[in-house]
Amino acid sequence: MDFPDRFDVIVVGGGHAGTEAALAAARMGVRTLLLSHNVETLGQMSCNPAIGGIGKSHLVKEVDALGGAMARATDRAGIQFRVLNSRKGPAVRATRAQADRVLYKAAIRYMLENQPNLWIFQQACDDLIVEQDQVRGVVTQMGLRFLADNVVLTTGTFLGGQIHIGLDNYSGGRAGDPPAIALARRLRELPLRVDRLKTGTPPRIDGRTVDFSKMTPQPGDTPIPVMSFLGSVEEHPEQVNCWITHTNERTHDIIRNNLDRSPMYTGVIEGVGPRYCPSIEDKIHRFADKDSHQVFIEPEGLTTHELYPNGISTSLPFDVQLELVRSIRGMENAHILRPGYAIEYDYFNPQDLKYSLETKVIGGLFFAGQINGTTGYEEAAAQGLLAGLNAARRARDLESWCPRRDEAYIGVLVDDLITMGTREPYRMFTSRAEYRLVLREDNADLRLTEKGRELGLVDDERWAVFNAKREAIAAETQRLASTWVQPGSEVSQAFAERFNTPLTREYSLLDLLRRPEVDYRTLTELTGSVDIPADAAEQVEIQTQYAGYIERQQDEIARLRQHEETRLPEDLDYAALNGLSKEISQKLASIRPQTLGQASRVPGVTPAAISLLLIHLKKRN
Ligand code: FAD
Repeated sequence: MDFPDRFDVIVVGGGHAGTEAALAAARMGVRTLLLSHNVETLGQMSCNPAIGGIGKSHLVKEVDALGGAMARATDRAGIQFRVLNSRKGPAVRATRAQADRVLYKAAIRYMLENQPNLWIFQQACDDLIVEQDQVRGVVTQMGLRFLADNVVLTTGTFLGGQIHIGLDNYSGGRAGDPPAIALARRLRELPLRVDRLKTGTPPRIDGRTVDFSKMTPQPGDTPIPVMSFLGSVEEHPEQVNCWITHTNERTHDIIRNNLDRSPMYTGVIEGVGPRYCPSIEDKIHRFADKDSHQVFIEPEGLTTHELYPNGISTSLPFDVQLELVRSIRGMENAHILRPGYAIEYDYFNPQDLKYSLETKVIGGLFFAGQINGTTGYEEAAAQGLLAGLNAARRARDLESWCPRRDEAYIGVLVDDLITMGTREPYRMFTSRAEYRLVLREDNADLRLTEKGRELGLVDDERWAVFNAKREAIAAETQRLASTWVQPGSEVSQAFAERFNTPLTREYSLLDLLRRPEVDYRTLTELTGSVDIPADAAEQVEIQTQYAGYIERQQDEIARLRQHEETRLPEDLDYAALNGLSKEISQKLASIRPQTLGQASRVPGVTPAAISLLLIHLKKRN
């Protein structure tokens, strides 16, 4: 496959953002180059070997609904699957999978290598070619020039990466990988706001030196969940247990006694770390009254003894790491395979981006993933898909697309980032979405697949499976609505026996399913089952049981949407608007929201200010 003279889209970085970006652009049919340091590390999980979890699986399933790779790779690599919050309502339920690192990377690489329109090349990108505020291509470490008017940067933790273990530090992109120094320097020349963040990872343990009999096994769920809407349990490799143990007073003493050798507590690290994935030294400091923290022992794969002790991320010196690990029950004789460390890196203020994830100042230059101040594979994948899609659309002179906050967590993520920016690593939670009930992980396909098809992201196989599911839901809902149970009938008596309340009038099966005590399985047990796939049956149940709440949320969305889509002119002179406080006008002038809805979410912008803007827009028109 010869290289074309020029590409339509170049993606720099083959992590979780980069691989989704490259696949999305290529799926759209444009000539795409994926340029990354090392072909062996495409799809590499830098930190914990797990995909999904609360808020995050919503993103994974949305990426999947739009034809992305992450969920498909997880089904092929997942060695333990669980549904979190399974006893709570469907809005906050989340799927989490422990992944075999090697299988995950292999699954991603397979998809990349078999994607038409996609070229892969191993080289560091050291420079950008920029002409009059428009990107024209990239230059690699060995001086090769690749040309394209759309470049997506997904450089993760690599820009100016500095690795810390104790008070020692050295340059690196992540353990074992080089940093991106030349590119970081080049980017700092551009008129974009840049700052430093940090993240960390725990030491890895050799499983042969761990006493599992002192830990609590944590098996996966049965039946085993799947991540992708196209996934099946048959795709999963062998399933294994995780384990739980705890830190104790001695662990905490060891940490406290050595804080003077911690790069975080001696001011060596200046970047802000992830609030929701804190290091163990952070936890001991912030929750000083707790004498124990949970540690999840997660296998790294089926062909290795390596274990990931989730919960003890640390950048303390190695001798302290060894002592603290060996103070934990079951790990008294543990051998550390790889030391834990923290990494500081450059990130760019996402307020300098448009909804398409294109930078506001350099045409055709897109940013996605950790470079935008987020943390997590799932957040990166979601941005990558969006940036790749929009880079491809720009190459074709098409308008960009980004889902609204009421359509997808991807919309919430992007809107939060570009409206409010972030000063600490941003991760997704269900609590960040105001329309949780309509943005469930179970209905991500129903929300997005049709749009994905229209955008050119969804292939025929996914489209056929999706349509079959949609038709099955409609047919079953119709059947339940038109099947009636008469009082005194056999079915009515079965109901009376099961629930201790006789049916005193005629009910449709749909009416009965609305009762809180009746679920779909019980309904079909009592009234006769039909042949319907489990995921379609789940939709019928949720859509019926939560119909009232969902309708109310949809009404609210419709009401608020009026302003949501009202566009604000790019040249609006906020300082000249009468009645707008100086503080608000400065905020709006610096963020330059694209719509009235976005303006309303800028912290500090009041409803009165929104009314003023509305009046001004009416006058202007
Ligand atoms: P990455 O996955 O980092 O991928 C970047 C890619 O770009 C790599 O392939 C790299 O080789 C390539 N690249 C970079 N620069 C260049 C260049 N100039 N030329 C060519 N290729 C280049 N996430 C959490 O959710 N919780 C955590 O606790 C957590 N801890 C972490 C700890 C550590 C030490 C690290 C390194 C990461 C941690 N993460 C954590 C973050 C998680 O790994 C990232 O959020 C995720 O991988 C980001 O995906 P990405 O695609 O943006 O970047």
